[in-house]
Amino acid sequence: MTNTFALIGAAGYIAPRHMKAIKETGNHLIAALDPNDSVGIIDSYFPQARFFTEFERFDRHIDKLRRRGDRIDFVSICSPNYLHDAHCRFALRSDAHAICEKPLVLNPWNIDGLREIESQTGRKIYSILQLRLHPSIIALKEKIAANPNKIFDVDLSYITSRGKWYHVSWKGADDKSGGIATNIGVHFYDMLSFIFGPLQKNQMHIRTGERAAGYLEFKQARVRWFLSVDQSDLPEQVKGKQPTYRSITVDGDEIEFSGGFTDLHTDSYKHILEGGGFDLDDAQTSIELVSTIRNLKITPHLGERHPFAD
Ligand code: NAD
Repeated sequence: MTNTFALIGAAGYIAPRHMKAIKETGNHLIAALDPNDSVGIIDSYFPQARFFTEFERFDRHIDKLRRRGDRIDFVSICSPNYLHDAHCRFALRSDAHAICEKPLVLNPWNIDGLREIESQTGRKIYSILQLRLHPSIIALKEKIAANPNKIFDVDLSYITSRGKWYHVSWKGADDKSGGIATNIGVHFYDMLSFIFGPLQKNQMHIRTGERAAGYLEFKQARVRWFLSVDQSDLPEQVKGKQPTYRSITVDGDEIEFSGGFTDLHTDSYKHILEGGGFDLDDAQTSIELVSTIRNLKITPHLGERHPFAD
């Protein structure tokens, strides 16, 4: 069966992964929206798709299709984080399911509103949580599940250099992106709770525009974590050689992440189209965690500090 898609946020960095996933799963992009018209990339995937720079005209088009019996099956949402819940509501009111980028929303109470509209419309909201589909993460989850009484020591370090533009864009504005722990960290907090079970302790050591660090305890893990978008935080061995450093160790053993998590969008789409997908309940824990982290008091001396945080 072929599904039809509309896409919101078509001119951005992540949108081409969604276009590729729609194409690779044998489906069609019918319409796209972005206030920015730098969308030549659409030609690489769906040159026939209608494109709109104004929401109202996009809405009129989607509504016309619905009224004539050609409703859109899915709306893919690649807009800035603080707009996700509004765009999910648009999708469901248009009688479509939503496939939304991470973080699904900025605060847990936004999920409550989405739950209501899901039950009113009978349509679903899926969150992209692609690390849950990464083979190394699935293997690690199985290993941890086989040792249910053991508590593991985890160090998570992620430094992904961003230029000065980052702080000028919506990504650098806490009220739009949620800040670095929300925008970049949400992948990891979701992965940690997925593998190690419910969160039990959350302590914050650093929270600035460039970096965040803290200590988390899950049912089966003690986690020291450090995130940064500042290249001066790169460890000496990689400085000047690569812009990104990512390391996750479990009891001192490095988790192999080759391929990273940049190529899992098609798998995420397949998973949804085959009747799986990650729903509002799946997104809940990590959204609660990032919302708490945003407001937590900084307690530099509580819990164990990540070595990069000193
Ligand atoms: P981006 O800034 O490159 O793209 C966002 C796009 O949304 C821009 O083209 C912008 O013009 C458009 N936009 C802004 N306001 C809009 C509106 N009202 N209606 C429609 N479009 C609007 O950002 P990005 O890096 O592509 O991030 C987009 C989303 O994808 C974010 O939620 C981000 O967290 C997520 N993301 C996910 C991954 C991942 O690995 N899963 C990676 C990067 C980004």
